[in-house]
Amino acid sequence: MMERIEERFALDPIAVTINETDEALALWETVAWFADEAETEMARIELGLARAVIAPVPQRDWVRESLAGLSPVTAGRFFLHGSHDRELRHAGGIALEIDAGTAFGTGHHGTTTGCLLALDEILKRRRPRNMLDLGTGTGVLGLAAAIAVKRAVLATDIDAEAVRVAMLNAVRNNAGPLFSGVTAPGLHHAVFRAHAPYDLIFANILARPLAHLAQGLAGLLAPHGALILSGFTLDQERWIRACYRAHGLHPTRIIHFGNWVTLVLTKPSRQRKTRLFKNKRAYETKAAATARGPGWEFDI
Ligand code: SAH
Repeated sequence: MMERIEERFALDPIAVTINETDEALALWETVAWFADEAETEMARIELGLARAVIAPVPQRDWVRESLAGLSPVTAGRFFLHGSHDRELRHAGGIALEIDAGTAFGTGHHGTTTGCLLALDEILKRRRPRNMLDLGTGTGVLGLAAAIAVKRAVLATDIDAEAVRVAMLNAVRNNAGPLFSGVTAPGLHHAVFRAHAPYDLIFANILARPLAHLAQGLAGLLAPHGALILSGFTLDQERWIRACYRAHGLHPTRIIHFGNWVTLVLTKPSRQRKTRLFKNKRAYETKAAATARGPGWEFDI
């Protein structure tokens, strides 16, 4: 539909959105905004859309309303805000200024918040030295970690526009020198090995790419390192856990945010594994006790 509008219609609409409203029925909704009623009517005739609904856009302060929906987000020590809320920054904690735009990651999504909460907890126990943010979007996770520990982060994304935005956000947040952005699909780039191993890795992508990346990410993680995964839903949790378990990674924390899951995985060190495997029964008992122990899982 969008292509038809672009190809066949002489008068450009101001904006077009297309949304899948019902996945099962394969129903899509297209909304196009025009400057006036005459242009809208011409578009309807040109496109042969007898049943299209035409309605005037109500007079509202759209900019103010959309910004109001993007109020600051607090996740542990992190305070995320847009440039319109700069004056709300307060002393203490770590403030990050990130505007909504062409890259994902303002902190309003449960997966981003889950990763930031996981990071906040990890930082209470240790200071990662070498970090990777795979699927960086706006750069939010990599920036939060780099600023918190004042160490470099490698941030990559399949989308060159996201990398451009992330680099810009790094400069805006005075972390330019700590932040290296690289465009790469998955782990297909020499840069990943060049900087490995990482003691902290973020990968907030989606279940399918995360499943494919299990072996590669496990190989890049340092012993005792933390891998923070997100972007998958409750019904996909067992699958993702099994994929990473197959490569020796075990969950130390699970955060549920609505239907979204954030998983913190770690790689036991080699010595520990050898010792425990000598006594397989003890290993299994300990693993089971850890898995069931209180405080291991929480819902927000
Ligand atoms: N890290 C940010 C953004 C997450 S959105 C946050 O936590 O909010 C997921 C990002 O992963 C998008 O920017 C998308 O372009 C990127 N992405 C998706 N598939 C990818 C892949 N195979 N390799 C690298 N990046 C990928």
